[in-house]
Amino acid sequence: MYDINKIYINGEFVTPHGTEVLELFSPVSGEKVSRVVLADEVDTQNAIAAAKTAFQTFRYTDKAERIGYLRKLHDIMAVRKQDLVDVMMEEFGCPRYFTELLISGAVNDFKNMADILENYDFEPIVGRSKVRLQAVGVVGVIIPWNSSNGFIATKVSAAISAGCTCVIKPSELSARQTQLMMEIFHEAGLPKGVVNFVTGKGTVVGAEITRNPDVNKITFTGSTNVGKTIAKGAADTMKRVTLELGGKAPNIILDDADFATAIPQALFACYINSGQACVAATRLLVPQHRLAEVNELAKNAIKNMVKVGLPQENDTTIGPMVTSNHWQTVQNYIHIGIEEDKAELLAGGLGKPEGLENGNFVKATVFTNVSNQMRIAREEIFGPVLCIIPYKDEEDAIAIANDTPFGLGAYITGKDRKRIDYIAERIDAGRVCINGDFHDDLAPFGGFKQSGYGREFGVYGLDAYLEPKAIIG
Ligand code: NAD
Repeated sequence: MYDINKIYINGEFVTPHGTEVLELFSPVSGEKVSRVVLADEVDTQNAIAAAKTAFQTFRYTDKAERIGYLRKLHDIMAVRKQDLVDVMMEEFGCPRYFTELLISGAVNDFKNMADILENYDFEPIVGRSKVRLQAVGVVGVIIPWNSSNGFIATKVSAAISAGCTCVIKPSELSARQTQLMMEIFHEAGLPKGVVNFVTGKGTVVGAEITRNPDVNKITFTGSTNVGKTIAKGAADTMKRVTLELGGKAPNIILDDADFATAIPQALFACYINSGQACVAATRLLVPQHRLAEVNELAKNAIKNMVKVGLPQENDTTIGPMVTSNHWQTVQNYIHIGIEEDKAELLAGGLGKPEGLENGNFVKATVFTNVSNQMRIAREEIFGPVLCIIPYKDEEDAIAIANDTPFGLGAYITGKDRKRIDYIAERIDAGRVCINGDFHDDLAPFGGFKQSGYGREFGVYGLDAYLEPKAIIG
């Protein structure tokens, strides 16, 4: 049993003022594994005050000093990588192969930002003026559980590069992963108050960050509904806001694609992070006349290539859902899919896979002949549930891909690059991945439509923490 009873404020591990205790359960065994003392509004105000004071000095640090912190954070994280991987697999149940990818990405975020900073001009000349790019101020970092330390790395590396200070509100479900991250930041020796951690509830800590006038910007990753609440609350004090929200990504397979590789790859793209990913390719759009072939390939891939299992096993592709509540939500969607008249359940379905009854495991599920109007095709399920949707022609595929309130990720597989570029141009999403190239950690990442606004990663990510001030004359 892990007792997690410290938060990190002004360079010190402190006991929270809050007294509420949250119990966390293993997603694999269902056993109680952690007790977390939750921070409250007073803790949050203390953290914001520390970040505000630290900002008065940190904003004027020179670039070389900030690069030094970033490189140090990178090096410490690289040394602690295995610990980060192990705890993420245990606490969240993320399969090993994907956990390693996520944590490697997180480690690299610090190096990438340091490299960008080396050549970044904070005082470009525009017209007759010097534009001074200044740090926006105290940043509230509010994040979900599905790649907790990855989000911290992406957001905080950019924020401190700009000279901002941070109050991080991780998901209370990631308390152990957060503890490791606090240790890493402490070891890096940043000035006191530059980075603070307040683990607590969204409606308590998150709400205080949203309303507190001393917070200048919020960077949020999470659900579209909470994103809307934050955007409304932040408007009162005109905070700058970056929102990375939900998704329902289309994956278009063109008829000239190599289906034997494209279909198994499409399943993996849906099942990344056990389906608990905002960019999961949950809507597989295939040519109507090839539907039977696609169904056969999908069934084979489920049988031979997809394994629901323990996160630590090397060949596991799908681990458990994060909580039993979330497991139930996914079951409800599978039930809805079965009840809705049109679609056919091709694989998986309700209940737990054999031998994995104790944890929050969901069967790798595929519905085929799905209409884009069905709830399972419109709403974010956040579990391993794929919808195969047939399209008539290219224009129909584009229309279906865009017929969603979301616009985060999109995928296209095919041979004819001209055709792919034509479609990519017409897709309303912040990121279009071609032929299985799933990620570029220097490219901007963010949403169109109700998937949010603002961008992260690379230079675009850094810009989000800067206010341009024109010095004219
Ligand atoms: P969530 O929106 O429930 O919670 C996210 C964070 O917001 C948590 O720390 C939570 O405590 C906090 N929060 C909750 N209510 C709040 C309030 N009223 N005020 C301030 N903060 C509050 O999301 P979740 O269930 O933890 O994560 C899953 C969601 O995150 C999915 O919708 C997924 O698509 C999205 N997500 C988006 C991206 C992206 O980059 N676009 C990445 C990963 C996950």
